[in-house]
Amino acid sequence: MTTTQTEQFAVRRSTSPSGTALPLPPSGHFINGSFVPGSAGLLIDVVNPTTEAVITSVQAGTAEDVDAAVSAAVAAQKTWGATTPKERADVLNLIANIIEENRAAFEVLESANTGKPQAVAADDVTSTVDTFRFMAGASRALTSMAGGDYATDHTSVILREPVGVVGVITPWNYPLLMAAWKIAPILAAGNSIVIKPSEQTPLSTLKLAELVAGRIPHGILNVVTGRGRTVGQRLSEHPSIALVALTGSVVSGQAVAETAAKSVKRVHLELGGKAPVVVFPDADLRAAAAGVRNAGFWNAGQDCGAACRVLVHESVAEEFTEHLVREVSTLVLGSPEAGDDIEIGPMISLPHFERVKESLAEARAAGLNVAIGGSAIEGPGYFIEPTVISNVPAGAHIATHEIFGPVVTVETFSSTEEAVTRANESPYGLSASVWTKDSSLSLRIPKQLDFGTVWVNAHLVLACEVPWGGFKGSGYGRDLSLYALDDYSRTKHVMINHGA
Ligand code: NAD
Repeated sequence: MTTTQTEQFAVRRSTSPSGTALPLPPSGHFINGSFVPGSAGLLIDVVNPTTEAVITSVQAGTAEDVDAAVSAAVAAQKTWGATTPKERADVLNLIANIIEENRAAFEVLESANTGKPQAVAADDVTSTVDTFRFMAGASRALTSMAGGDYATDHTSVILREPVGVVGVITPWNYPLLMAAWKIAPILAAGNSIVIKPSEQTPLSTLKLAELVAGRIPHGILNVVTGRGRTVGQRLSEHPSIALVALTGSVVSGQAVAETAAKSVKRVHLELGGKAPVVVFPDADLRAAAAGVRNAGFWNAGQDCGAACRVLVHESVAEEFTEHLVREVSTLVLGSPEAGDDIEIGPMISLPHFERVKESLAEARAAGLNVAIGGSAIEGPGYFIEPTVISNVPAGAHIATHEIFGPVVTVETFSSTEEAVTRANESPYGLSASVWTKDSSLSLRIPKQLDFGTVWVNAHLVLACEVPWGGFKGSGYGRDLSLYALDDYSRTKHVMINHGA
């Protein structure tokens, strides 16, 4: 092992290669159960953000490739949509088993492609397996509104149907898990899929395709790799796609919704976030600081729900910030292979690294107080120091736009009303947390916050049984829970006249 010293943090790097070759998937598109070459023969390099080395390359898909995948999905959906919930649940449980049996391959691929520490990659795979298992069970318990006699001599039956073919576009921060959050409920509801993983992180989705090939019905799951502006665009406009689901940035969500409007396609958007963490004066400040250490820096802060914007009561701000800085100072940075105690990996790519650096430079230029961290670390690898910026004034740019890196800001408030107003003063509405021991505040404040998830004395705790999704600029539609199954189904009313 070698260590690169920086101002406050060191990156532990693995000097000895693991010796085992990465379990790379085939590089073609996965269409109708087999890997096929792309129509244009163009490739996109896939980069390891810890070493900056090219791992492999994948097909840069075209509209033609999407069209071939959609044809396969349309054909397969007819049979798949007619299966029973039990038959679909059997397939989802099989996928869960396949992922579990190949856990090591998924973890090592995901870490190589994203720089994720081992603990984060392991957690992603565990949650992926649980997502498939939950949706397998949930699909068997699905009901629709009870039918009844609402007109004389007429009986109504309410049917829940699949929507048809769903186009899915996923981001780079949790490539396998975000794919699972879509694939599991979409298949469970009887739809077929064409999925486009992020061009930066396609490997785990292709690996999933490789491992399920021949073991699940052909054509229900198709993968087309490539860029948003070609493959994503075609998925959004294709007339045979009934719904397009995207997890990604606001700009991409707007582009998808605009294109989808032309064919009046349904849209499901999980977009960015800037989660406020509201700390009241009676809160357990140590627990709140430990909570931000975990939820603000998990996956190096590249998380749409990251606890990145603290609003703390002015009477306890100094004490809270001291606790937080102490907590953050113990974070361990390094490459995934450097040990299972590594907590912070690199940013996903050079452009993203540059964007985070720019945000830090802006904060310094604005004279903000960097309480810890604040610098990029010399390469190789796109590492940024875990950073806390304190005494941030209301409305500061760094506290209102999504940085998507290991950067937490601390602002103060003086009254409960001000805390709520300031927390809600955000274009995003994905998630927030409230820290207090007061039982009245713990119910009253979440009701006043304009966010799809509000935790009390916790942050970033997720479960498959409960919905995930945002308000305002964070999009609409729900992942996880029975609400996702609703989103990927359509309701049909059949009314039978049985009068004489
Ligand atoms: P991104 O928007 O750059 O890319 C996401 C996906 O959209 C990629 O597959 C990309 O190729 C595709 N895309 C880009 N432009 C497109 C277009 N014009 N048409 C169709 N598809 C297009 O986002 P990213 O950088 O990969 O991920 C980070 C963003 O995702 C952050 O804003 C983060 O908050 C958000 N995110 C949200 C959630 C959530 O659950 N709400 C979860 C994870 C990430």
